[in-house]
Amino acid sequence: MRSNKGVMVFIEQNNKQIANVSLELVCEAKRLADQLKVDAEAVVLGYNIHRELAILGKYGCRKVFYTDDKRLSHFTSVPYAKTIVTTIRKYQPQIVLFGATTVGRDVAPRVASALKCGLTADCTQLQIGDHKIKDKTYHNILLQIRPAFGGNIIATIVSPESTPSMATVREGVMKMVEIDPTGTTNIISESCDLADEDFVTEVINVVREGKAVDLKSAKVIVSAGMGAADSEGLELVKALANAFGGVVGSSRPVVDGGLLDHCHQVGQTGVTVRPNLYIACGISGQIQHRAGMEGSKRIIAINSDPDAPIFSIAHYGIVGDVHDVIPKMIKAYKAKT
Ligand SMILES: Cc1cc2nc3c(=O)[nH]c(=O)nc-3n(C[C@H](O)[C@H](O)[C@H](O)COP(=O)(O)OP(=O)(O)OC[C@H]3O[C@@H](n4cnc5c(N)ncnc54)[C@H](O)[C@@H]3O)c2cc1C
Repeated sequence: MRSNKGVMVFIEQNNKQIANVSLELVCEAKRLADQLKVDAEAVVLGYNIHRELAILGKYGCRKVFYTDDKRLSHFTSVPYAKTIVTTIRKYQPQIVLFGATTVGRDVAPRVASALKCGLTADCTQLQIGDHKIKDKTYHNILLQIRPAFGGNIIATIVSPESTPSMATVREGVMKMVEIDPTGTTNIISESCDLADEDFVTEVINVVREGKAVDLKSAKVIVSAGMGAADSEGLELVKALANAFGGVVGSSRPVVDGGLLDHCHQVGQTGVTVRPNLYIACGISGQIQHRAGMEGSKRIIAINSDPDAPIFSIAHYGIVGDVHDVIPKMIKAYKAKT
């Protein structure tokens, strides 16, 4: 028999548009829910977005608990946290997932604190499994996996003695599955028991700053590491990205050194990407960088050190100086196209 205790995702919406990270999490919730033989479900807050919610069914979400209120059009911490807590108390999911976005990082700890349950931030993997503490075994609980201690260990975190288990996951970490065009969802309207005093802040206007680079949707990313961080190296990386119709990414020290803006940074504290082609130029391949790019379909690494760790995950490795190799790659590519 299927238990009612589902796997719930908090759906972020902005201007009636559902965030990509929420769709990724619905796919992950469906995978976990199938293992647990429960439903993937969602909690949504907003105003007049019934129609936009149909997409959730196509990604495998079976129930959507939707609170429709004009005052919830935009995210504000207290009303959102309070409404999510009310929904969780009512439906008792065993797992709740949030995007590790500005909104998710604000609201998830408030919800965890109100429910007195555990919360693991920035998970890179989620699994269902058993866990033994002394002579007690907990079955089918959420194993929350994430790098810890500066990426030196991969920790598995469990919170078996409180429910729900809650985790945040960054955008791009979980894979989207293909949609099922026939998939439907059951939208369940929730009443809003918020008082005017709950709205201590009011959103008057939303102004979004455009990103200088959109690494997430790029099909080709050419990234500069410290081995390409001189002015000539960076120009060559940009030229290679241009030639391939791609965008420029980077390792963290290049950003920390002020050579590129943070929006170019790939990795644990940057963006997680899965392009068709990732070219790492003068990047050693430390775990924190790899965490953000090892899901790329094809990886080419250029590095003067044949023992650089990046070669262990690269599909093609070129041992050489970026200043020599990149001009040859551009020339060869242009000659072919
Ligand atoms: C908590 C934490 C979070 C972090 N988050 C991130 C993150 O999100 N993203 C990230 O990238 N890092 C992150 N880091 C830093 C990470 O540990 C590494 O220090 C960083 O990735 C190294 O960057 P790099 O490979 O460019 O530089 P280096 O490690 O200095 O490597 C430079 C490479 O270039 C090669 N090289 C040198 N000259 C040339 C040349 N002329 N031609 C070809 N190759 C050459 C060298 O052989 C070397 O392999 C994080 C660290 C911590 C502790």
